[in-house]
Amino acid sequence: MRVAVTGATGRMGKTVLAVARERDLDIAFAVNRGADGEHVEGVPVQPSTEFEALLDAERPDAVVDFTGPEATVAYASACATYGVPLVTGTTGYSEADIAALEEAGTETPVLVGANFSRGVQALLDAAESAVENLPEYDIELTETHHNGKRDAPSGTAKVLLDRVEGTRKAESDRVHGREGEAPREGDEIGVHARRAGDITGEHEVLLAGNHEALELTHRAGSRDVFAEGALDAAAWIATQPADYYRFETIASQL
Ligand code: NAD
Repeated sequence: MRVAVTGATGRMGKTVLAVARERDLDIAFAVNRGADGEHVEGVPVQPSTEFEALLDAERPDAVVDFTGPEATVAYASACATYGVPLVTGTTGYSEADIAALEEAGTETPVLVGANFSRGVQALLDAAESAVENLPEYDIELTETHHNGKRDAPSGTAKVLLDRVEGTRKAESDRVHGREGEAPREGDEIGVHARRAGDITGEHEVLLAGNHEALELTHRAGSRDVFAEGALDAAAWIATQPADYYRFETIASQL
């Protein structure tokens, strides 16, 4: 498999290139905003303004992208033009961004994953089961990430919230943090985002009631887990027809 990597000098881009090297994958090209010839894992990183020309010239089997919403939407549009599959782990999209990615998915396979770890996929299933079994219990969700993370709550927290709300029969409101006079009301779901140090990523779903508490926690030990999942997804998507895919719906096939 020949992959292209965007955001190549970012935290995740570097990790993807390192894991790709461990796997002996061919790198078609690597780009990053403002790159000026630096190398990551022996791969020259080119300016992202060259992305479309490189895509046309190299035609990789898949592009693996961890950047920001604006960049990802532009990359998806170029991938649609050249029929190159795209796997993206970027988070923090607006509704318009998602619509643009879905639109690209009508021309080429586009796979979006807020979290490429298998443990988080298991956490989603475990949270759904716990919510089903404990319908009256209060739910609070806490996520913790490094101090450089831009979006809050995390993309993974939003996927977890969607799953929990979809499982709970009652209407529930998301309450982001609490301050002052703020008693718990009805079926609200408290959402808390912590940013500190170099923590890779932690997500906890707390269910409490009837003199007991259940905590379901996932901790990512290294960014390698996300890069491994993204490259597994790239191998999968390279053989799929054009469509808009979500990692959580295909992870069990990898
Ligand atoms: P980072 O800031 O370290 O790296 C992002 C890279 O993308 C940088 O090199 C930056 O220059 C580049 N970039 C950003 N905007 C750009 C633009 N408009 N054009 C061209 N290049 C651009 O961030 P990171 O920690 O590597 O995370 C990147 C994204 O991946 C974030 O959205 C983060 O939430 C997400 N993420 C997802 C997963 C997952 O499993 N899905 C795991 C970790 C991080």
